[in-house]
Amino acid sequence: MSRIGFIGLGIMGSPMSAHLVAAGHRVTGFDLNEDALAKLTAAGGTAAASARDAVEGAEVVITMLPDHPHVEEVVLGTVLDGVARGTLLIDMSTIRPETSLAVAEEGAKRGVRVLDAPVSGGETGAKQATLSIMVGGEEGDFAAARPILDTLGKTVVHVGPHGSGQVVKAANQLMVGGIYALVAEAIVLLEASGVDAKAGLDVLAGGLAANRILDLKRDTMIAREFRPGFRIDLHHKDMGIALAAARQVDVALPVTGLIAQLIASGRAQGYGSLDHSALLKVVENLSGR
Ligand code: NAD
Repeated sequence: MSRIGFIGLGIMGSPMSAHLVAAGHRVTGFDLNEDALAKLTAAGGTAAASARDAVEGAEVVITMLPDHPHVEEVVLGTVLDGVARGTLLIDMSTIRPETSLAVAEEGAKRGVRVLDAPVSGGETGAKQATLSIMVGGEEGDFAAARPILDTLGKTVVHVGPHGSGQVVKAANQLMVGGIYALVAEAIVLLEASGVDAKAGLDVLAGGLAANRILDLKRDTMIAREFRPGFRIDLHHKDMGIALAAARQVDVALPVTGLIAQLIASGRAQGYGSLDHSALLKVVENLSGR
C-alpha cells in the first residue's frame, strides 16, 4: 500500500480519495476548501495544511484540479520541489496537452515520473469507482500506476505518450457536449409537440439513439434539476481545449465549434455554475420557451 498525496478534493477528488483510503492506502490530502478537507478526514484520510505538506514523503501524488493554471501553480510551483526522485505524479485533471507535456518535462529533470490521466464518467463514475481513465506517459510508469488507477476506474487504458491522455479526453468532451445538446433538442421537440418527454425518451433509450447520458440524466433534465455534476464552466474550458487541439493539427471540427458556442452561450447567460445538462435551458431559450 502506498503513501499518497492527493491535491484537489472537489466533486471528483473527494470520492476518489475516499476509495484510495478504503483500499488501504495512506492518503494525505490538500484543498483550499475546508469542507473538502473535512470530507477526507471523515473518510479516514489525513488533512494537510498545504500542498507541500500533503506531498511530503509521498510515493504517489495525485492531482485533481480544475484547469491548467491550478496545475501550474500547484505542480510546477510546489509539488515538484517537495517530492523525492522516483515519486509517481498522476495528474488526473482535464487540462490542455501542452501543460501536461511541460509538467512531464519538468518532472523528468527532477527524476519524477509523470502521467496525464484524465477521466470520464462524471461524479457517478467517481463515486462508484467506475471511471474511464485515459493515460498518457511512459509504459513502465503506467504499469506502476495501474493498481491505483484500477481502484478508481473500470476502463483504464494507456493511450500513448505524455499529453495523449488529454487529447483523448478532449475527444470525449466534444462527444459528451454534442450528446447533451441533442438530448436537449429532443426534449424541447417532444414537449413543444405535446408528447410526454419521459415516455418518449424511455423508448428512445432502448433504440439506436441509446446512450449513457439518456440513461443517467433524462429524468433530471426533464425535471429541470441542474445541480452539478459537471459545471458548464468546466465544459466551456474543455471545448476550448478541444478546439485548440484541433487547430494544432490543422483539422476542422465544425460540429465541435457549434457545441462550443452553445456552451459559451450557457455561460454568458449565467448558467456557468449549473450542471452541463443545463444546455437544455440554452436550447429552450433559442425558441423562447
Ligand atoms: P471541483 O471544482 O469540484 O474540484 C476542484 C477542487 O480543486 C476544488 O475543491 C478546489 O478548491 C480545489 N483547488 C483549486 N485550486 C487549488 C489549489 N491551488 N490548491 C488546492 N486545491 C485547489 O472540480 P471537479 O468537478 O472535481 O473537477 C476536477 C477536474 O476533473 C477538472 O479538470 C474537471 O474538468 C475534471 N472532471 C470533472 C468531472 C465531473 O463530472 N465533475 C468529470 C470528469 C473530469
